[in-house]
Amino acid sequence: MEYDDDDFLMISGIQHFSFCPRQWGLIHIDQVWNENIKTMEGNIVHENCHNQDFIEKRGNVLISRGMRITSKTLGVTGQCDVVEFHRDDNDGCHLYGHDGLWKPFPIEYKRGQSKQIDADRLQLCCQAMCLSEMLSVPIEEGALYYHETHRRERVLLTENLRKEVKEMLDQMHHYLQTGYVPKVRPRKGCSSCSLKELCLPVICKKKSVDSYYNAVFEDDLL
Ligand code: SF4
Repeated sequence: MEYDDDDFLMISGIQHFSFCPRQWGLIHIDQVWNENIKTMEGNIVHENCHNQDFIEKRGNVLISRGMRITSKTLGVTGQCDVVEFHRDDNDGCHLYGHDGLWKPFPIEYKRGQSKQIDADRLQLCCQAMCLSEMLSVPIEEGALYYHETHRRERVLLTENLRKEVKEMLDQMHHYLQTGYVPKVRPRKGCSSCSLKELCLPVICKKKSVDSYYNAVFEDDLL
């Protein structure tokens, strides 16, 4: 099955959906957005590495920034922060204007540091799946670069991770087609969520989100 361009999802939505499906629904279906310091920092990190038309060559590595990517089979579109192309004449792909074969290695830049949840890894995996489809080349790994720690984390793009991406996108497409915004499900991240005032406007004006959720859990209201 192939999706029409009109039905494409933003790849960046994967991290929202993974963090909280309601947050994704508010942003991508209801089109609300509320910028806080974390999203602002994230935007600055991305602006620093998105510089389209910029291809740098370092020895046997070509570096592309801000590459537009898409997949008709997944129904997604987006942009890679950085894609390194490593010379690999056994398992690479052709690149216009360059001799030999090149293996893509996507790198996603993130604010903060490595997290336990797979949100960043899922987003990276989706990017790799798009690149694979566009360039007809298998991609087994990529990396996440964390701005706060200045560390690069290598990520193996396992079958499980790919399966999770596919299942998540299927669900997101279903919600988008039906216009369904998932309901509130309190979670630890609510207190730092950029949308908490929009998601829970009355509650946020009266008390902290944490104290509200503590009360909710204690009373077992949900
Ligand atoms: S406040 Fe909590 S439930 Fe609401 S969108 Fe944010 S993370 Fe999700």
